[in-house]
Amino acid sequence: MPSATASRIGYIHSVDSCGTVDGPGIRFVVFTTGCPLRCLYCHNPDTGKLVDGKQRTVEDLLDEIGTYHQFLNKAKGGLTVSGGEPLVQAKFVGELFQGVKERYNMHTTLDTSGHAGPKKANKVLPYTDLVMLDIKSWDRETYKKVTTKKIDKCLAFAELLQEQNKPTWIRYVLVPGLTDDEQNMEGLSEYLKPMSNIERIEILPFHKMGEYKWAELGYEYQLKSVEPPTKAGMDVAKKIFEKSGHLVVV
Ligand code: SF4
Repeated sequence: MPSATASRIGYIHSVDSCGTVDGPGIRFVVFTTGCPLRCLYCHNPDTGKLVDGKQRTVEDLLDEIGTYHQFLNKAKGGLTVSGGEPLVQAKFVGELFQGVKERYNMHTTLDTSGHAGPKKANKVLPYTDLVMLDIKSWDRETYKKVTTKKIDKCLAFAELLQEQNKPTWIRYVLVPGLTDDEQNMEGLSEYLKPMSNIERIEILPFHKMGEYKWAELGYEYQLKSVEPPTKAGMDVAKKIFEKSGHLVVV
């Protein structure tokens, strides 16, 4: 008989039993629905509304993950919850992470924009081995332009991770003409410098793989004419973020 916790319901967009880009090793990835941001380059705009997700219980997901856990543990992978914004469903994600740890001794990764207060964050962080935190810009105006929201919650979250010494990968999407301003990147690099919990900074090149979803949803895709960054542009960004003293991966 499932416990009350195991029967908690979450809203799920999809799962991937063999993810290779959402944390270390090979991972089972759960994409949740619901996100307070509306990023201009979002490649999962169909995860924006919570109610568009399929309802699944913690127990149901634990059973599915159970069929892969030995393989994933051997492959030095684990479970990643991404989105959408997983912290919208903090209780559900916390219980799912707790479940895979207790049942399968799995590594857990939270992929987040950090848009949640400490109360929500602390429902998930005690069961999280690694956080991948997307910081979309340092410059406040650009952050708002990219996401429609203010940067403050994201930075407060980064500082909470530092206080808890939580292993963290920072992710930065390089968008030509939008987030590639050198001063902007210099500011973020300087901010991240003293954070000893950061294991790496990943610079992700902007791409348009999700553009068709915007069209399907009837949304206007504003970055139509923007091309992915050049190698030279990526190199400039790498050099700037290396000034933080952290490992930079492009
Ligand atoms: S935070 Fe992620 S899921 Fe949410 S809008 Fe931005 S890119 Fe999309």
